[in-house]
Amino acid sequence: MRYLIISDIHSNLQALEAVLADAETLGYDDTLFLGDLVGYGADPAAVIDRTLALAPVAEIRGNHDKVCAGIESPLLFNDAARHSAEWTHATLSASHLKLLADLPRGPQLVTNEVEICHGTPFDEDHYVFDATDAARALDAASARICLFGHTHLPAIFTTTDDPARSEPGLAEDEVLLPKAGPVLINVGSVGQPRDGDPRAAYGLLDMEKHSIRMRRVAYDVAGAQARIIGAGLPAWLALRLARGQ
Ligand code: ZN
Repeated sequence: MRYLIISDIHSNLQALEAVLADAETLGYDDTLFLGDLVGYGADPAAVIDRTLALAPVAEIRGNHDKVCAGIESPLLFNDAARHSAEWTHATLSASHLKLLADLPRGPQLVTNEVEICHGTPFDEDHYVFDATDAARALDAASARICLFGHTHLPAIFTTTDDPARSEPGLAEDEVLLPKAGPVLINVGSVGQPRDGDPRAAYGLLDMEKHSIRMRRVAYDVAGAQARIIGAGLPAWLALRLARGQ
């Protein structure tokens, strides 16, 4: 089984299309979606349609999905995030808002071996930035391989002395997962990378090889920026895409 892992798309249709084209050439069997379809970007309806058309075998909501759907307050968001959430809510049809509101809460168990969450298994909105947070998340995980999003930062955390590692014969962006012990993986954000690399990020998890590819894909950043500016959304949301911040 090979899983396409996508997270934090944030209404960035240009990035999503580039990711799906890249994944198509490499091949996968099923899709896992880890939350935040919308917020920040200017194509929420098209991103919802395109993602749900993939018929993910497991999908969960992100914090922006909740706020944009109107089921949680935007008061904790910064100005640009709140502005884009209000714009997204006003722009989407009732049926699209219902699709967002109906996204399941994480975590979700995909199989005995794989679990997905947006923030952590113990709190869907909690951020994992360091080893301390990662240890708490791994403690709470119900499967050995736990996939998360939310921070928009690619990362692999383990608790054993057997780290994820590259090996001859693997692709350049592919690592073998530890043979035993839990592993917590963030493949990064499709639509708003924040690690200084503006390319879209996603993952391909291969359960037979027990490996993951941490993919980066160049996309039409200028096109996504033009959509944001054209929609009257804050210019900072366009600028940060070019910086990968
Ligand atoms: Zn996000």
